[in-house]
Amino acid sequence: MAHKVTYIPGDGIGPEVMEAAIAVIDATGVSIEWEKGEAGAEVEARVGTNLPTSTLEQIIRSHATLKGPTETGVGKGAKSANVALRKSLDLYANLRPVKSIPGVKTRYEDVDLVVVRENTEDLYSGLEHIVVPGVVESIKIITEKASTRIARFAFEHARKHGRKKVTAVHKANIMKLSDGLFLECCRNVSRAYPEIEYTEIIVDNCCLQLVRDPSRFDVLVLENLYGDIVSDLCAGLVGGLGVVPGANIGEVNAVFEAVHGTAPDIAGKGIANPTALLLSAELMLQHLGEMDAAKRLRGAIERVLGEGRVLNPDLGGTATTKEYVEALKAALA
Ligand code: NAD
Repeated sequence: MAHKVTYIPGDGIGPEVMEAAIAVIDATGVSIEWEKGEAGAEVEARVGTNLPTSTLEQIIRSHATLKGPTETGVGKGAKSANVALRKSLDLYANLRPVKSIPGVKTRYEDVDLVVVRENTEDLYSGLEHIVVPGVVESIKIITEKASTRIARFAFEHARKHGRKKVTAVHKANIMKLSDGLFLECCRNVSRAYPEIEYTEIIVDNCCLQLVRDPSRFDVLVLENLYGDIVSDLCAGLVGGLGVVPGANIGEVNAVFEAVHGTAPDIAGKGIANPTALLLSAELMLQHLGEMDAAKRLRGAIERVLGEGRVLNPDLGGTATTKEYVEALKAALA
């Protein structure tokens, strides 16, 4: 039976990388019934919302969703479609495996870590107001429920994937109450997983240690804002935003998307790198139980990038998105 998958092209390079990704995923031979969904700035300009109810309903009906990046205005306009999506569907866990890829030249060759980011609260609660002109307040919400849930997700992920260590990243030396609560929840959950080592590190030191020696980390669990920043730092360790996948997972629904944004500087030029979306699709195929297709997809990506002949410009090559897709399809044949 075909898997029902919603695909959301999104804005900027979104439609280009989505078209490329679907062509490669289909070439694995997996049976997927694709249904288009809309979200982002382009649909907002047409219908007045960046996340139509029909899209949400469609995602709920689907077995999984593959999403391209969507544009969010800075300092004005509607709330981010991503934040709205995560909140509406309670996609509480953001999963970002960060693994070195053969052929993608970076300072490190042995990065293999997972960033688990809490997705629903913290400073992303969207609670901001003007106290008096010239003074604004932005409220950070941390709850026992969400912190315990994300800690459990991180430890369960570690157990399922045979990982050895979970590190909670925090700033509890300054935010004693909020980050203190987050840490307390992580400690409590850690007691149920005696086979997994549990450590803690302050977020600024974590950034320093990550760029010095990323191999000392395994699974990182973070609140929303630290997770957002640290996951991009980690992307930089393995070759940048064009090669890192992501998944937003809830109890019921799961949305798979790349870490990168809409890349307005290269949109429409036909040179965007679809690898991140394809690696997100690898996570999606695993989620759908299509282990063989997932493995073949990763194998094809590693082969093509490892050979280093067909690389998009962000990885130092001159290949177009189409040329890269053809190389991947040939590697899958
Ligand atoms: P960005 O990720 O769009 O771009 C940063 C740099 O990385 C640019 O130089 C860009 O060309 C490059 N890049 C990103 N993805 C690439 C790819 N697949 N192939 C090749 N190069 C790539 O980040 P930004 O400029 O800060 O954000 C632009 C817009 O994207 C904003 O509107 C922001 O809100 C949105 N955004 C969306 C998401 C999402 O939907 N998940 C995530 C981050 C940013």
